[in-house]
Amino acid sequence: MPYAPKPLPRSRLHRPDNRPTRQKRGYDRDWEKLRAAVIDDEPLCRMCMNRGRHVAADLVDHIQPIEDGGERLSRENLQPLCRKCHGEKTAEDLRKRRGKA
Ligand SMILES: [Zn+2]
Repeated sequence: MPYAPKPLPRSRLHRPDNRPTRQKRGYDRDWEKLRAAVIDDEPLCRMCMNRGRHVAADLVDHIQPIEDGGERLSRENLQPLCRKCHGEKTAEDLRKRRGKA
């Protein structure tokens, strides 16, 4: 049977986006410290490295997304990526998540 989402109650349709700020969602000082440590350890994009390319990392990624139960502040769950690879991985994570649903 195809999945049909229930319509939202009217009162929720036009509510402004009131999600917590980035900071409140956990991108706090501990995260900043850990992020800096990862880049310090591995200044190059890991996915590019695996393809034999040396590209400076732009950001630190959660290997297993937090949304999927990944550990937020675990060094083992973090990898440095360049923007391009991060975009690819995010798209892939989304695809996987949709596939499961
Ligand atoms: Zn890369």
